[in-house]
Parts: sequence; C-alpha cells; structure tokens
Amino acid sequence: MTENATPPLKAVIIPVTPLQQNCTLLWCTKTMKGAFVDAGGDLAKLRKVAADQGVTIEKLLVTHGHIDHCGGTGILAEELGVPIEGPQEEDRFWISMLGEHGRDYGIEGRPFEPNRWLEDGDQVTVGELVLDVIHCPGHTPGHVVFYHAPSHLALVGDVLFRGSIGRTDFPRGNHDELIRSITQKLWPLGGDTRFVPGHNEMSTFARERASNMFVADQVLAGG
Ligand SMILES: [Zn+2]
Repeated sequence: MTENATPPLKAVIIPVTPLQQNCTLLWCTKTMKGAFVDAGGDLAKLRKVAADQGVTIEKLLVTHGHIDHCGGTGILAEELGVPIEGPQEEDRFWISMLGEHGRDYGIEGRPFEPNRWLEDGDQVTVGELVLDVIHCPGHTPGHVVFYHAPSHLALVGDVLFRGSIGRTDFPRGNHDELIRSITQKLWPLGGDTRFVPGHNEMSTFARERASNMFVADQVLAGG
C-alpha cells in the first residue's frame, strides 16, 4: 500500500483589505519555508495563518505595485526581517505612492524598496521550490506573474480573472499590451494551468480561453 505523496507546494488564499485582494501563502512542504505573495494588508491575520500552518516566512513576493497588493508588504517585511522580491521596476512609481493611496482606500500603505526587482525569465525560490517570473505588463507596466511549473499553478495578480481581465484605465495601463501578455505569455503555459487571480475565485487558462468575454479564443478571433 502506498500513501499519496505530499505535493511539493501547498498554498492558502487569504483575502485581505477592504478590496478583498487574494494574498497567497505558499510554502515548500519539504522545508516548511514559505512566502506571502501580495501581502496587501490585514497583517495580523496573515501572520496567524502562517503560524497555524507551521510555515516560516522567508520572503515576500509582489506581483505589482497597487495598494491592495502591497500596501502592507514593506511593513510586514520589516516586522519579519525578510526580503521583498518583485515586482518589475517599471512599477516603482506605483510603490512610491502607497502612502497616499492607502489613505484614499483606508489601507495602511508604506512605500518600500524591494531587495530584488524582477525581470522576465528570472526565477524565485521558496524553500526548495523554484517559480518562474513572467513579466506581464498592461494592468501596470511592471506587473509580474509567478509560475510553479511542477504544480501547473500560476499566481497572476490583476492580469487575468475568472471571467474578466485587469483594468487598464490607470496611469500607464495599456489594454493591447495586457491582451498580448495574456495570450502570448500565459496561454503557452497550458490550458490545465490553474491560476490564483488577484480577486475572486481560481480558474484555469482553458476555462478562460473558452468562456472569458475579453480573451476567449473566439472573442479575439472576432467570432
Ligand atoms: Zn492592481
């Protein structure tokens, strides 16, 4: 009799801030070291989830510079004494405005300087896990996606949602660029890829290619 093997990566999604942004705690089950992706706020709640799971946080990852995704990241990094990796440096201007945007949205926001800006093709580690970095501009110019190939799992921030896509009406948003990011950078990862969006429920790329009113194959083909 064989036991089911423990998957190398486990993840818990924790909606945070009044905007209900999907912060993800992901961890390496072998080392029990983990990272928060997009620690936007509600930091006490995040710390409790990590403690409950027995995970030691070793770094904070950031998809993009919006307040609900990283308003609390600089604060949590200081509290935990861990580094910040991401996003791509074109989002520096968003991160510099976290203080004022926090006041607008009722979220504690603090600008920070990541220990490492990320570029397309980079890799980040969490314990013994290795995730690929994919630069997907359009919603913001420095937006990155984290992809764990062995799990067919992508953390896509506000690039793509179940049934929708990210807004592009912000400064330096670009609709055509966003569509290119989705179709040329995400779709090639495979239809069976599950993704954690920045808000709402998970989905798969296959599902979105079939039914998403913005980026379904048939929609983009003009059908
Ligand atoms: Zn955003």
